[in-house]
Amino acid sequence: MTIDHGCNMSNISSKTTEKLWHIFEADTANVEFNNGIGQHPFGLPGVNCPKCGPNSGFRRLPFECPPEIRDEVMAVYKRNACLPVDEFQRHTDRWQAILRDRGFNKSLNPGDDFQPFIWETLTPPHLDYYWLLHTFIVSQRIADIIKDNQVAGVTLHPVVLARVGLLRSIESEEIPWEYWSKCNEPEDMYDVVPHADDPSVFGQFYTLVIAHDTRESTLIDELGDRIKKCPICGYIKMSQQIEIEINKQRSYFRKRNILPKRYTFPVDIFRSHIYYSGFIVRERVYELLKDVGFRNCRTRQISVVSDEEVFG
Ligand SMILES: [Zn+2]
Repeated sequence: MTIDHGCNMSNISSKTTEKLWHIFEADTANVEFNNGIGQHPFGLPGVNCPKCGPNSGFRRLPFECPPEIRDEVMAVYKRNACLPVDEFQRHTDRWQAILRDRGFNKSLNPGDDFQPFIWETLTPPHLDYYWLLHTFIVSQRIADIIKDNQVAGVTLHPVVLARVGLLRSIESEEIPWEYWSKCNEPEDMYDVVPHADDPSVFGQFYTLVIAHDTRESTLIDELGDRIKKCPICGYIKMSQQIEIEINKQRSYFRKRNILPKRYTFPVDIFRSHIYYSGFIVRERVYELLKDVGFRNCRTRQISVVSDEEVFG
């Protein structure tokens, strides 16, 4: 089936089955600085495919890099950010055997990042949510809510707080000129501000790793033989026509704040190719999180609609 032309564009009724909430990054002053910067130092390289060229994914693995392969993982990436496919396979076959012994059975893909995340901030971390590209950081109290209520679909992994700048809250305040004047690039700010002696006094924060993402599964299932998967590296190539269809569908659903049932998962938190920043939570989780508030976030309510209503 096509993903666009099957859409019944005129006739979405208000007969909805359930409510979800999209939680995503705030759009405030100093937004490029509010969330800090960081990296997963134990990341897999991409592959250099003879058919597709260099490619790499964005998955955050719900697993710490085992100590016995940390040096090697770092050294391999440092030597070359993209490996030939057979060389990538050789490394990951061996690492995978070590991971299996430790109970991690997923296959490794190019660009996968192991935990932990190493984080730097300009201001002492005091918020409950921080948004970095594909990496979401939450406070201890959000982690407690998730653990105490058996919220399904996520895992929590301690963040290593490497450096904490001592600027005051920068959510709404100007960063003083004395610091700007020492920066050639915005990221130099992390070097020029005064730092706390002991970052551990600011408490424990966690990366929130979300297991289910419709970008990885639903879309690929749905498009079936309309997309081409490279037999050498596994890269999914979409035609421009399909990209256009997906974009149309995305703007249609987003304008109406709806999501078809087939683009949801039966868990409490997941990610979506329609509402692609941040993540989506069920109403039960929204109610649990509401008391803490949603500072440094935006939220929107989404209604789940039946597939028949949308796709006919
Ligand atoms: Zn390829």
